[in-house]
Parts: sequence; C-alpha cells; structure tokens
Amino acid sequence: HRASYGVLPRPCRALVLLNPQSGAGRALEDFQAVVQPMLADADITPTVFVTERPHHAQEKVQDEDLSQWDVLVVMSGDGLLHEVLNGLMERPDWEQALQTPLCILPGGSGNALAASINYYAGNDHVAKKKLLTNCTFILCKGLHAPMDLVSLSTASGKRFFSFLGFGWGFIADVDIDSEKYRRLGNARFTLGTLQCLVRLRIYQGRLSYLPAAAEPGSPRDPKTRRAAPTAGTKALTGDGEPPADTLLVPLGQPVPPHWVVVPEEEFVCVYAIYQSHLGTNLLMAPAARLHDGCIHLFYVRAGISRVALLKIFLAMGRGTHLELNCPHLHCVPVRAFRLEPRGSAGVMTVDGEALACEPVQGQIHGRMCRVVTG
Ligand code: ADP
Ligand code: MG
Repeated sequence: HRASYGVLPRPCRALVLLNPQSGAGRALEDFQAVVQPMLADADITPTVFVTERPHHAQEKVQDEDLSQWDVLVVMSGDGLLHEVLNGLMERPDWEQALQTPLCILPGGSGNALAASINYYAGNDHVAKKKLLTNCTFILCKGLHAPMDLVSLSTASGKRFFSFLGFGWGFIADVDIDSEKYRRLGNARFTLGTLQCLVRLRIYQGRLSYLPAAAEPGSPRDPKTRRAAPTAGTKALTGDGEPPADTLLVPLGQPVPPHWVVVPEEEFVCVYAIYQSHLGTNLLMAPAARLHDGCIHLFYVRAGISRVALLKIFLAMGRGTHLELNCPHLHCVPVRAFRLEPRGSAGVMTVDGEALACEPVQGQIHGRMCRVVTG
C-alpha cells in the first residue's frame, strides 16, 4: 500500500507536536483559535505536546507507542518536522513508523512544506492565517499520500533524512543569518536576502550529480515511466537497518563515471530542493511534487550581478525565474548529488536547519513516508 493514497479514520487520534517558540511565537494561540474548532467539527481529537527545547519532539517520537495515533501533526516551521522525521528514522521499526501519516500545520517562519502542499492542492497562493486555515482544512479532509525523502551523508559520518532541501551559499546564509529576525515571520527572508545581497560572496567547491534522465528506470526515462512509483524502494531492507544509499559511493572515492561533474568550481549558491516551495513566497521548483522521484538541483555560478540575482529572487515569488533565461542559473532534475566545498567556512542547511560546512552527498528514496495532502 506504499504507493497508494489513504484516508484518516474517524474518529481520528492526532498527536500534535507544537513549538511555542516557532515563527512569531504565536503557534499555541493560533492552534487554539484556528485549528482546534475545525478539528472538532471533523471528529479529529488532538493531544497537544508542547516542545520545551530543541530535540524534544525528536526524543518524543523515538520511543512513542505509535499505535495510539492515527496521525502525527507538527505545528511549527519545517525545522520541527525535520526533527520528527529523524526521530522516527532512529527507531528500529522505522519502516513501520514511517507509515504513520505526518501532517504539517504552518506555525513557524519557514513553512515551505505547508506552502508546497497548499500549491499541490491547487489552492491560491496564501500566507499566514489563510495558509494555516487551508492546511487545517486539508487535515480535516484527511487524505494522505507517499512522500519522497532524501538521505544526506556528510564526510564526518553524519546521516540525515530530509523532506525539503539542502542548501549551501547564498540561500543557506540567508536562512541561517535571518534566524535572529524570526519574530518578523516570513519577512525575515526578505530582509535577510537584501542583507546578503549587499555582501555577496563567492563559494568554492565541486558539485557533481546523477541526472534523473541518465539512470535507467528513472521517472524521466519514458521507457520505464510506469516503474517510477517504486523508485528507491528496493533499498528498503525491512530488518531494522536504515535504508542503503545504493546510488552513492563513499565520499572518499571519485563519483561514478556516469555522474556529471560541473566544470565550474565557483558558485553563489547551490540548492537541492525536493518540494515546490523554498519558503511561503518562494516557488523555486514549480514542477516538483510529493513523490516525483526527483531532486531539483539549482545552482548559480559566480559572476552573476547583484541586479540579476535580485531579479531571480523577485521572479521566484511567481515561479517564473527560469523564464528569465539567466545564463548563471542552472536547474537540473537529479537522483543524487555530491558537494565538496573547498574549506569549511560558511554554513549548509538541511530543511532550514544549520549544518557545519563539509563534503555532503545525498540521494532520493522514493515514497518513504506519508503526508497529509489535498
Ligand atoms: P521556524 O520556522 O520559526 O524556524 P522551526 O520549526 O523551524 O520554526 O523551529 C526552529 C527550531 O526551534 C528547531 O530547531 C527546533 O528544534 C527548536 N525548538 C523546538 N522547540 C523549542 C522550544 N520550546 N524552544 C526553543 N526552540 C525550540
Ligand atoms: Mg526553521
């Protein structure tokens, strides 16, 4: 049933993991005012777990008896869902645990998955309370579908599972530098973008990738299009071992010969995104879907002017940045990628959370978890 859509049972038991510090600090108030009355009408009974510190939600789901819950709801930004996902992946029964539908309700300042799900549902672009209302309505309807995850491994031996994106350079800097403006809500990214534009930097490193079209059996290969729904599932072992990254070779070794190595080694930014939205107002990958089997790899080569970069960000509000035909902006659908930064200065981000800068590689795992969607 991994490939199929499902619907939440009624009555429905929901564990709501809520970060009271996320976004402008109003998640709990908004939950009580907006979400709770709608859930009551839909016969969904919430049990609210208010997080007290980072990793609290991760620890909670690591040894929770999941048979008590029909859905795990995260009311926060993308960061808390990242914790919950990785907490579930640390369980010996992760494969079973990931079949519990997850739901995101936008309570943070970075609500990219919520904005993506609102977009996939065909709703108008909205933000703030309207986005929260739309996402709560989607939860009330209760449809859930498979979602791809990306496994990321670092040179120092860390491994993460990610549902949104990995970034380095300009966008990662905006994401992390603007944390101090979290109280501004989504406006933190506008302010952060302008600040980072002023002191535009160049980042050196080597980027390689496995194009989605190159690999037999890929969703972009017309001959095997119908095989796409199971892409990646062959790596699932079922014995409690975490899934193997069958497309990757160890970071110490050169990438396989059928990979592409980008000839330029100076970038303004690299961003691998697997949902449509980078933020509430940034439609970065309009073609992306929950389970398209693809990582949408964007990079901007060094040499771009500040004006051209600003134009890209302005166009991203409507998702028309690729139509600018900017020669420095590249977008390629891939199954796996590797980034080897020269030096360790700067930051990287995974689902909007900071990571020390070091060599990283990642690959898609098709349809690994389930999310509530329209
Ligand atoms: P935002 O979009 O506002 O950044 P996130 O959901 O991404 O919201 O949360 C940001 C960080 O807050 C996460 O890394 C999470 O671990 C952390 N966190 C969770 N609960 C708390 C808490 N009670 N106090 C402080 N930080 C918390
Ligand atoms: Mg965040």
